[in-house]
Amino acid sequence: MLDAATTAGSTTGSTGGAMGGSMGGWGVGRVENTASPVLAETIRTWCGNPEARITVKPVIDVAAHVHHGAYEIDGRISEPVALRDHTCVFPWCTKPARKLKPGEHAADCDHNVPYAQGGATCTCQIAALCRKHHRLKTHGRWRYLILTPGSYLWTSPHGYHYLRDHTGTTDVSHDRQRRRHPRRHPPPAA
Ligand SMILES: [Zn+2]
Ligand SMILES: [Zn+2]
Repeated sequence: MLDAATTAGSTTGSTGGAMGGSMGGWGVGRVENTASPVLAETIRTWCGNPEARITVKPVIDVAAHVHHGAYEIDGRISEPVALRDHTCVFPWCTKPARKLKPGEHAADCDHNVPYAQGGATCTCQIAALCRKHHRLKTHGRWRYLILTPGSYLWTSPHGYHYLRDHTGTTDVSHDRQRRRHPRRHPPPAA
């Protein structure tokens, strides 16, 4: 799938369009399957191909708060969450946030603060987690803080910290902590 940010007024389509920024006659889109950038010019060429199947969807503001007064999460929340997070937000996990290929599963939508504990069903406090890492968060001692929607500070069971945002994952643990448990610092499960 392709997220295309294009010049206003152009007819370039996108499937699940997340705007990548304002463009002045040229731009860059992102191919969701490969997470690789592609020039708007290339997208125009694809769209001009009579063989191409183009689905145009309305642009979603991934920064907007989408609330829902119940535990259940529908596409109005899962779609902007997937477009914002792209993958499971566990450190270094690359599982796509939504189903891209047959046989794949969409990631779960995790309430950072559980609904039963007063956590709102809102895009600002929901993150994409693959099933495995959702379990790890629910039953393990890994936890995360949402710094801003889409930016997550994880704390491992041994107190190591990982920042996961749109640029990827950064180990932001203190060296002091690293020395204290030099051999008990497992790489996060893939
Ligand atoms: Zn909110
Ligand atoms: Zn994961």
